Amino acid sequence: ATPMAIMVGTGLGAMNGILFKNASALEDATKLDVIIFDKTGTLTMGQPEVVDLVTADDASEDQLLAAAAGVEAGSDHPLAQAILRRAASVETAKATGFLNIEGKGAQAEIGGKTVLLGNKRLMTENKIDLGELGAKSEALQGAGRTVVHLARGGRLVGLIAIADAVRPTAIEAVKALRARGVEVIMLTGDNQGTAERIAKGLGIDRVFADVLPGDKASKVKELQAQGKKVGMVGDGVNDAPALTQADVGFAIGAGTDVAMESADIVLMKSDPFDVVGAIELSRATLRKMH
Ligand code: ADP
Ligand code: MG
Repeated sequence: ATPMAIMVGTGLGAMNGILFKNASALEDATKLDVIIFDKTGTLTMGQPEVVDLVTADDASEDQLLAAAAGVEAGSDHPLAQAILRRAASVETAKATGFLNIEGKGAQAEIGGKTVLLGNKRLMTENKIDLGELGAKSEALQGAGRTVVHLARGGRLVGLIAIADAVRPTAIEAVKALRARGVEVIMLTGDNQGTAERIAKGLGIDRVFADVLPGDKASKVKELQAQGKKVGMVGDGVNDAPALTQADVGFAIGAGTDVAMESADIVLMKSDPFDVVGAIELSRATLRKMH
């Protein structure tokens, strides 16, 4: 590309809240075969909210919330913030020995017992029997909720269902990318059921779910090994390696600094549709040079 064309292209982008951090990003964005979107905070608002509580027979909702808040007080995960907001009216249980279990949840000691809090995988790995609540958990996930399970002393106490609204332009972004011949994939640490339901609502038919933070970049690599040029859109700290690995990394402006530092293009308006804008702009810029 001529320096002049690139200057005009990046200038136009900047005026529209699309920051190209390097000239090669403008050229590489024309060649993308696939765009992978992180789910939480990228396709969704990243402002999760507790929408349902389900308790096992002998527990109350307040007991469930008090224990959950006790554990989450030690966490900075967005799900923890949602639980703490919902538990604001109950007295938080005093927890010690907080331990983050990456990609699965957290644990702590409350009243001499170990409390485990997180996804179904965490429960399965710790041999927690979900009993009657197993079907309830599946149903909530099938409805697009993220389900946080809480077990105390090896027994399930209840479920906390959390919802995170999708960004208003996400559907249009997916449609526009597909119309331009770009495949769209959703990538998330969340479970398959929840991810598939949300993907379906957005018109995305390929989902990589239950991906541990350390494995996000490998998913990008796998596609590249198939000869594909891959764009990755993310917001979180755990997206950073995947943003770096991608041929073009797009960071959501409202996301973390680490994501923005790792990306080639920053979407200042946090609008997933700006991925389409970035591709259009780069295609137009390159057309002008020929
Ligand atoms: P993502 O941000 O893509 O959802 P994470 O790797 O942060 O991925 O988390 C994956 C899953 O692990 C979450 O969907 C949730 O079920 C569980 N999890 C992680 N941390 C917590 C936590 N502090 N409290 C409850 N659940 C958690
Ligand atoms: Mg995210």
